[in-house]
Amino acid sequence: MSVEILAPAGDTDSFMAALHAGADAIYLGLKDFSARKAATNFSLDNLEGMIRRAHVFGVKVFVALNTLIKDTELPSFFDCSRRAWNCGADALILQDVFLGKLLKEQYPSITLHLSTQAGVCNLAGANLAREYGFSRVILARETRIEDIKKIAAVIETECFVQGALCTCFSGQCYFSSFVGGNSGNRGLCKQPCRKKYSVDRKDFSKLSYRLSLSDLCVGNDCKTLEKIGVHSFKIEGRLRSAAYVAASVRYYRAILDGAPDEEIASRLSDLKRSFNRGNFTRGYSWGQDSALLSPAIQGHIGEEVGRIEKFDKQTSKWFVRSSFKPVDGDGFKILRGSNTEVGGAVWKSGFAPIAGGFYLQSDAKVCVGDTVSITLDHALAQRLLSERRMVDLSASLYVAAGERIRLDVAGSFGRMQFLSSETVQQAKNNPVTEKDLRDCFEKTGEYPFLLHWKSIELGNDCFIVRSALNAFRRDVYSSVYERISSLKREPLEEKNWQNAYGRNGFMVSADACSEGKVAVIDRDFSSSCYRNVKLDYAILKPLNIQNSDEIQKFLRLAKYYAWKKYLYIPAYCIGADFEIYEKLLCFFDGIYADGICALQFAKEHSMHCIAGTGINLFNRLGADLCLRAGVETFVLSKELSYSECKRIALPEAFIFAGGSIKLMDLGHCLWGRACHACDRRFQYFLTDEAGRKFPLLRNVASTCRFELYNTVPLKKLEWKNCLYDFCALEDEEKVAYLTNVFPGTMKLTNGAAKSGVR
Ligand SMILES: [Zn+2]
Repeated sequence: MSVEILAPAGDTDSFMAALHAGADAIYLGLKDFSARKAATNFSLDNLEGMIRRAHVFGVKVFVALNTLIKDTELPSFFDCSRRAWNCGADALILQDVFLGKLLKEQYPSITLHLSTQAGVCNLAGANLAREYGFSRVILARETRIEDIKKIAAVIETECFVQGALCTCFSGQCYFSSFVGGNSGNRGLCKQPCRKKYSVDRKDFSKLSYRLSLSDLCVGNDCKTLEKIGVHSFKIEGRLRSAAYVAASVRYYRAILDGAPDEEIASRLSDLKRSFNRGNFTRGYSWGQDSALLSPAIQGHIGEEVGRIEKFDKQTSKWFVRSSFKPVDGDGFKILRGSNTEVGGAVWKSGFAPIAGGFYLQSDAKVCVGDTVSITLDHALAQRLLSERRMVDLSASLYVAAGERIRLDVAGSFGRMQFLSSETVQQAKNNPVTEKDLRDCFEKTGEYPFLLHWKSIELGNDCFIVRSALNAFRRDVYSSVYERISSLKREPLEEKNWQNAYGRNGFMVSADACSEGKVAVIDRDFSSSCYRNVKLDYAILKPLNIQNSDEIQKFLRLAKYYAWKKYLYIPAYCIGADFEIYEKLLCFFDGIYADGICALQFAKEHSMHCIAGTGINLFNRLGADLCLRAGVETFVLSKELSYSECKRIALPEAFIFAGGSIKLMDLGHCLWGRACHACDRRFQYFLTDEAGRKFPLLRNVASTCRFELYNTVPLKKLEWKNCLYDFCALEDEEKVAYLTNVFPGTMKLTNGAAKSGVR
């Protein structure tokens, strides 16, 4: 089976661009529940028409409903899923595994793909997706090649090959949410990761794009992905232009078709001119490459087309030595070296044409020797969007006086025969010619058909009223279109979801009536602030999971204070991390799973498990299904407001009730390629342009990882079962929380408290 090229469509123009460029499948969002709310998106009213148009070419359409769903939105979510499926969607893309499981149980005929937002990055995650009824996983962009190979062996696998990379592991980014109230998990990401920051480290203290990543371009290496069994190559870009969508599809199509090197190079050039952030990286699959981070330049840098040669004083313009021929309105970026953006310029048709180059005018401080890149190429966009894809039809026509017209049409759909309603008359003069007939039927109008004549049999002296002939043609094409595009599927019936999994059916954990519980996540429990504190769960997030001394120290403390010992396993884990975690499990009472891969890992190893905030439990149904999946307890999503947690009304659930707010999980070393410039500290601060400091913590799994925390901690919330995250807090801040949690037990005479109130 050949690999699928899957293109994004943020609007109708991009949809048509993807279709005509040769995509095998297209994904799009609706007005609601789309992870790209800023895109124009599609409505349920026009969805069926778009899907039919795609199906005519054998192109599949996947509808993304990949945001987190609140309780109040559940009826609308189920309705939307059902209607999108009934419009002909070939699959629905979901983020919430639990809602997916529920949909699949209720509608077994539905096809579900698990969104990259769910964070599948290893075999355990793939196993969970399969068990829950998903037929495909869209892998996290951080998935390594050796893990992709294992995953592709158990479930249909979709990999990103092109487009923007998120700094944060997908589904775990709360930066936009906590900084500005715009949740990335709800389709509203405002991209604070693309802003400038400094870090308290030598050579990193200058404000620059410290978190911003280059765009992914796997390019020729997609052949390796194909070889190891990846089923679909995904192009990111529901907010990108139609020309970019067309350029991306054509580039990967050329590679997969084994086009000559020159053609592939020219398609890559088209792609770079359409959108190129950071001159592209191969991403994470083959390990962190040197192009992953793009600290100096953010945004589209196009493709280099020339160099500034001299300044013309008479006209106040710069001469660019180049073989490129600009057209009116073409845009350029002027760059110095590899890492300085000098400014921009637009070419106007009034600029005098000249051999060997062109003139540009710029207000920026341009120098001789600066390079010039094209970032807006009008002729290219026009060329990319003018190519059309047609459906081939072969036709045999029979026309004879006294009989009805007979037209046989054949294509990949099979064969259809049509007879006109009117009979062909005997011509008195001006009989119809073969050319008349060809001209008439070759006009396919709005239908994307390309007619190939197999035979035309025309008798003598035939006459047909022109309007009747046209009506017959329209009838033929509309019938063929209907036949090719019609849905061959039973529509799903409406369900009463409240009855299917109603509130009465909700399982309450065994100790729902007992006292409230306290769970704490920390990197080090040796601080004296934990003395004499009765933690129900002490959740260790080790600095270095390969450091056994660190683990042993924690285990001794937990034993002494009789805490339940839990091991924090993050959402992002590669297979090699799990191999290390496996060896540690025997020392712990359970796992705190911050992602679905860890959830499945706990299940496969029969470990007690707390479903962490990173599982993003957002509604009562999800929480219920999570409990049914066998977890000991769970923490609701930290993006829910206090009142939303209350509305879910599960006092037996934990909520994140105080401490440091983790905003991001980074799957890479912030200091460049594979730690080659890493100074191996465990704590830094990232400072934004307004001077706000964000704790930046490093930890070591099989490789180096980073976590970003909010500039201010969460104030203590009142709830029965409380989870605190103390990873990025000073001892005195921990004392302040613990005093509040355990009134009377925190004596200010103990060492930590003393140092805390100095
Ligand atoms: Zn590192």
